[in-house]
Amino acid sequence: MDSPHVMHLKTYQRIVKQVWSHKDLATSTSQLQAVEAVHELYHECDPIIGCDDIIDIPVSYDSTWHKRGHTSHFDVDIIVDHMTGLVLDIAVLNNYCQACKTAPSEEDLLFLTWKEKHAPDCGCNYTGRSTDRSTWTLVITR
Ligand SMILES: [Zn+2]
Repeated sequence: MDSPHVMHLKTYQRIVKQVWSHKDLATSTSQLQAVEAVHELYHECDPIIGCDDIIDIPVSYDSTWHKRGHTSHFDVDIIVDHMTGLVLDIAVLNNYCQACKTAPSEEDLLFLTWKEKHAPDCGCNYTGRSTDRSTWTLVITR
């Protein structure tokens, strides 16, 4: 019987970094097109609205965690325009990073050097728990 092929951690991290950078480009292009389309539609409905005006629009907001039971490390937040159904913004929150889990101890002399080098690539962008999110207030400034 063949044993499962296990990917080296460094290879996995390199691939995740590449996927993440491409995701950001695709997402930002798609969201920019959606925002422009929505802005144009509202401009057609009310010609007083200028191209660069900030407008109040009704949106739907939803958030979901990867797993039930408040143990998930990954959350996705989505903002959808009420009139068109276009997705205007997506945020992915992550409170887990494999590299941080295998990092040197904070007491280790190498920790500060490691942390400074790792910071730009760290997968964590949220330090709370999944249960903390239920009381958030949403403020949108786009
Ligand atoms: Zn990290």
